[in-house]
Amino acid sequence: MTQSGTSSSPDGPRGRRTVVIGEEPVPPPPPQAAADDGPPSLVPQPPGEPATLGEPAARVVLKPRRAQPFHFRHPWVFDGAVQRVEAAENFSTGSVADLVADSGEWIARGLLHADANLKLRLYSWDPDRPLDRGLFAERIASAANLRSRLFGAPSATDARRELFSEADGLSGLTVDRYGEYLAVQFTAGPLAAHAETVFDLLEEQYSPKGIVVRTEKGMGEAENIHLSDGVVRGEAPPEGFAVEENGLRWGVDLTVGQKTGLYLDQRDNRRAASDLIAAATPGAKMLDLFCYTGGFGLTALARGAAASVRGVDASDSALALAVMNAARHGSADACTWTAGKAFNVLDDLKASGERFDAIVCDPPKMTRTRKSVENALRGYHQLNAGCLELLNPGGVLVTCCCSGLISREKFGQMLAGVAARVGRPLRILENRGAAPDHPTAPQIPESEYLKCLLCVAD
Ligand code: SAH
Repeated sequence: MTQSGTSSSPDGPRGRRTVVIGEEPVPPPPPQAAADDGPPSLVPQPPGEPATLGEPAARVVLKPRRAQPFHFRHPWVFDGAVQRVEAAENFSTGSVADLVADSGEWIARGLLHADANLKLRLYSWDPDRPLDRGLFAERIASAANLRSRLFGAPSATDARRELFSEADGLSGLTVDRYGEYLAVQFTAGPLAAHAETVFDLLEEQYSPKGIVVRTEKGMGEAENIHLSDGVVRGEAPPEGFAVEENGLRWGVDLTVGQKTGLYLDQRDNRRAASDLIAAATPGAKMLDLFCYTGGFGLTALARGAAASVRGVDASDSALALAVMNAARHGSADACTWTAGKAFNVLDDLKASGERFDAIVCDPPKMTRTRKSVENALRGYHQLNAGCLELLNPGGVLVTCCCSGLISREKFGQMLAGVAARVGRPLRILENRGAAPDHPTAPQIPESEYLKCLLCVAD
């Protein structure tokens, strides 16, 4: 096993799925709510008092003809759709508010943000249902109940997403379970205002040994979240902590300041990719580009699909865990780890003449804004072209995209362009998404963020 390389820090396309918790789609303004009509009139200014759950403290009145997405249960109300906020009493971020049409018709109930573009997050469409602790408890229990039906008691896979934001009815909260520990991420300021209530409820639901919080930097700023990262309940996982996935042990570090956790959304895709590699290119020489802690490559090795793996990642700390995982699986001798930026490594490999039978390309999220989608698509094009140039005839390409703003259709078009340019026709054998513990919400297209295409190239 060797570790070589040129660079040590992640570059360029940053901020993919947050490592602790994985990804929540970044909320872009739905077209109906474009912020093009100037600021709404806010009455009164937030006094900074802690928000309470229960009785609504305000009414958010929509502009004319802006109600439709919210009748369809889209949970994000942006400034641009709001005519005014009428407060019956003082309100602050996290206060309960009713959403009404300009006609006065009641639509939904949510939590207000005093000073963010995403003004109101909706949680209830039943006028008789108070937005209180009980509602949060119900949603948490329902998400947990679904996971235990999907997985049974934690066993062969004891790392899973227990609650995934919008799709589980709690926009802005993500909860991952690693064995007996929970990793929690808030992506909504108004919900983070009730963090202690959420932690209480998670303790009641799971009796975890510890709860760890981590807020993605950009998200914390956009949503004005002031939670400190770290252990908020119980204890931190012990040194050398590992969890089971696909019958293999994986080291996980949930402590602050590190890239931690697993990309749980790719769990089933790691298995599917190794099944395809075993069938199409048995004994493959494999390239695992953006390998993180070795998920795709080490799974393919352990399942006998690949004979050797070169893993590439820009993060030294991720590669250190990959090295440990390989040793744990008894695969160390079959692995080479390269620290470096993907584009540079692709160029180096091309120049060296090294070729592969199977390549996985799983980059971080490349765009967070609609403005930069075209640019990101050019990045995906360049990456995938680089991969195809290194792939032996008949080889397997597993190509992924976790940018919620790039639709499956657009990603497919990009790939068609690459195949044409490189002159390597592609057959897509499986068009996959995230594992079922990462449900999506049909009314929020961006929540279907993960695309994982299993292809064979001529
Ligand atoms: N395939 C992995 C998950 C990949 S996450 C798995 O199965 O677990 C994306 C990875 O890309 C992260 O580990 C991050 O460190 C890495 N990364 C970010 N920018 C990079 C770059 N320019 N070159 C190489 N790796 C990069």
